[in-house]
Amino acid sequence: MLKIMKNSSVNPGNDLMPVIFVGHGSPMNAIEGNEFTRGWQQMSARVPRPRAVLCISAHWETSGTLITAMDNPETIHDFGGFPEELYKVQYPALGQPEFAEDLIRRLANHDLATDMDWGLDHGCWSVIRHFYPDADVPVLQLSLDYRKQPSEHYALGKELAFLRREGILIVGSGNIVHNLRMVDWRNVTGGYDWAEEASAKIQSLIREENHKALIDFGQLGKEIDLAVPTPEHYLPLLYVLALSDKKDSLTVYNDKCTMGSLSMTSFFFGD
Ligand code: ZN
Repeated sequence: MLKIMKNSSVNPGNDLMPVIFVGHGSPMNAIEGNEFTRGWQQMSARVPRPRAVLCISAHWETSGTLITAMDNPETIHDFGGFPEELYKVQYPALGQPEFAEDLIRRLANHDLATDMDWGLDHGCWSVIRHFYPDADVPVLQLSLDYRKQPSEHYALGKELAFLRREGILIVGSGNIVHNLRMVDWRNVTGGYDWAEEASAKIQSLIREENHKALIDFGQLGKEIDLAVPTPEHYLPLLYVLALSDKKDSLTVYNDKCTMGSLSMTSFFFGD
């Protein structure tokens, strides 16, 4: 038995890789050690070593769904006005083109295509460098097709479920409450009342497994309208929910609002 476990990449109690939603927040989290980055480290320590990471980041929206397929994805510094130190960070994880091409073949009905131009944006590398500081696990990104309805993103998430049995760690990176126009850059300790309410409401719907309500987030009321003024930071959550399984237990972590209008609340599905 021990021998089998040693050679197995996943816990025998649940043969699925965990699937994780990460509230990524400020790009500064890439180079800080704080309560949120410690939360990321704790969650990644629970993950068996993956064959690759597939990240669905809020920061890559395209027409059609693309998957990065280069050998050496570039570290993209897709933000402005931050300290020089942050622009110097490189995250040299390899890609895995054969995996990208295989995924496209297996999801032939979904019109996925390879991408050779993107790389890793900060929604991905600012988090994954805390998961795997040595950059020794291949990392790919899957884009968000801005033409898709929320229900279609959820449906595509379901189609990716087989990857959890194949040693692939899927990470959705966004923020469940993300209203940059209302951010209070001096307030790093909490959220406005509506942000706290929106974060709690989304969390309770996740605990109730009410995915239908979460897909139809436009019907959830004015707090959610403020929390999700544009969908891109919310949509990675729908992939993660679609990928969750009855076998999983849910861990809510980094459960805090910050800067008034951001929620860092994050979700780990697995053992
Ligand atoms: Zn972001």
